[in-house]
Amino acid sequence: MPIGDITRDAVLKALHEHDELGREAFHAKYGYDLAKSHVLIHERREYDSAAIAGAAHQWSADPGAALSPHEYAKARDHAASQLIGAGFKVKVVKNPAWARDEIILACQLVMSNGWRGLEAHDPRVGDLSALLQLLPIHAEASRNDKFRNANGVARKTFDIATRHPEYTGKPTNGGALDVAVLHEFLARPAEMTQAADLIRQGLSSGSLQALPVADDEELDDYSAPEGRLLLRQHRVRERNPKLRQRKIDSVRAAGGQLCCEACGFDFEEVYGERGAGYIECHHVVPLHVAGERRTRLQDLALICANCHRVIHRKTPWSTPEELRIIVEQRRASGGR
Ligand SMILES: [Zn+2]
Ligand SMILES: [Zn+2]
Repeated sequence: MPIGDITRDAVLKALHEHDELGREAFHAKYGYDLAKSHVLIHERREYDSAAIAGAAHQWSADPGAALSPHEYAKARDHAASQLIGAGFKVKVVKNPAWARDEIILACQLVMSNGWRGLEAHDPRVGDLSALLQLLPIHAEASRNDKFRNANGVARKTFDIATRHPEYTGKPTNGGALDVAVLHEFLARPAEMTQAADLIRQGLSSGSLQALPVADDEELDDYSAPEGRLLLRQHRVRERNPKLRQRKIDSVRAAGGQLCCEACGFDFEEVYGERGAGYIECHHVVPLHVAGERRTRLQDLALICANCHRVIHRKTPWSTPEELRIIVEQRRASGGR
C-alpha cells in the first residue's frame, strides 16, 4: 500500500501518542527503525517525520492501518511532502542515498580523470553538482541545502576511485552500489559511457525530467544497469499508443498473426473477444543506444505481458528471439 493522504488531525494524534509513549517505545510499537532522514518540528520538538506519518496513516486512510515497517522504509521521502501538505514543518537531516543514475554520472567523470578522485574546486565537479540537482529521482522535499553540493560530489568521486581494483590504499566510504556501477564501467566502458552521455543530454535538454515515474520502479532498479531514467524513457516509448497501433497494423497488413514473438501466445485465441487486438510492445534497442532517436517500427517487438515481464526482469535483457529459443527448447523437453 503506498502512503495516502494524511490529515492534520491524524498527525496530531500520532504526535500525541509519540509524546505519551516516548520515542523508543513509539518506534518499537510500529516496528519502525530509528534511522531518521527527516524531522518534523512541532512545538519546538523534533520527531522522525516518516514514523509520525506512518502511524498517522491509521487515522487518515480508509480503512485505517498504520504503515508496515516495510512500507515505512519505502515511504520516507514521500512522507515529508505529505506532512508539509498537511501544514507541518519538516527539515531534511540527511540527503537521500545516491541513486544508480547519479553514480553513473560520477563514475564517468572519475573514469575521464584516469580513475582518480576530483577536488571540490574542480570546475568539472561544479558542473556535475549542477547537473545532479536537475535529476528527477529524489523529491524536492527529501533534499536539504547541501544536496549534491561540490563537497559531496568530490567525496563521491573519491569513494569510487578508491574502490578501483588497482587502487592500493584504503577505500574511503562509499557503498555497494558504487562498487557495482564501477564494475559495470570496467566491464562495459563504451556502453556505460554512452548511457552516461544520454543521461547528461536528457537532463540538459529537459526531456528526462518530463518522463512519468513508473510505480514498480523500485523493484526494477537493478534490472537496468543504465539507470532508472533511461528505463523510464524505454517504457514511455514502448507504451506510445499510436506507435503500438502502427506496429499492429503493419503486422496485420503483412498477413501476420497478432501473437507473442517469443512464446506465440495469442490473446484472442485464449480470451476470445476480450483479448482481441491486445498485445504489448517491447522496444528492442538497448537503453544505452536508443538515445534521443525516434522509435521506428522495427525497434518494436510484439510480446505478451508475461514474456515482457521476464525480458525486463534480468540484465542483460534477452531478445524476443533468445526467449523464443528458450521457450521452444523447454516445450520440446516437456518443461524439464
Ligand atoms: Zn509470450
Ligand atoms: Zn520493454
